Amino acid sequence: MTHTIPNAYEIFSALKEELQILGKPVVSRKKQDFPDTPFVTLISCLLSLRTKDEVTEKASRLLLTKYYTPEKILGLTEKQIETMIYPVGFYKTKAKRIKEISRTLLDKYKGKVPDEFEELLTLKGVGRKTANIVMVYGHKKHGYLPIDTHCHRIPNRLGWIRTKTPEETEHALSKALPPEYWDDFNDLFVRFGQTICVPVSPFCSRCPIQKYCKKIGVATSR
Ligand code: SF4
Repeated sequence: MTHTIPNAYEIFSALKEELQILGKPVVSRKKQDFPDTPFVTLISCLLSLRTKDEVTEKASRLLLTKYYTPEKILGLTEKQIETMIYPVGFYKTKAKRIKEISRTLLDKYKGKVPDEFEELLTLKGVGRKTANIVMVYGHKKHGYLPIDTHCHRIPNRLGWIRTKTPEETEHALSKALPPEYWDDFNDLFVRFGQTICVPVSPFCSRCPIQKYCKKIGVATSR
């Protein structure tokens, strides 16, 4: 397979150096208040969809400090879960999903989160991004590329790929990016996208990888 990204080593090294002072995104952060298990990663990831990091973090702590297994979650009513996770985006739907998933895990998987990607996708509310996150950060497996909005936007700006959806990005990057960079990719690009290569008017003047960037689609920058 031909990997097409030039200067990948320099780019990843520069990003690591620049971003090492920042914390990790909430779903990949080592859990302090609750066990670092695939179930906790799965639920944190579900809570994080369409929700700001600080809101996800508070909701995760409130819920998962005490209720960190499917059994414990099933001891709660949907209303109780809603109250704990509010104001995460779509909190009512998420409360319902969290209970449904907990029930399925107990009924079908003896309370464990499956470590097969395709199996994860069969859980209601779990899409490719969440399944990839659970494989990488929950099960600590290699060879998966979780793609969120930052991981989709930035490789397109850099000119690495030309894609329209995160699914297309996952596919294109899995061909273009050498596998030795996959484990770091989500973590680095989420933090980079939250701080420097932000969605609107990125901070190109202080970007450590500016000389490697084609700035595709960047109309204004700072
Ligand atoms: S130069 Fe600007 S657009 Fe390119 S990666 Fe850096 S911040 Fe993003």
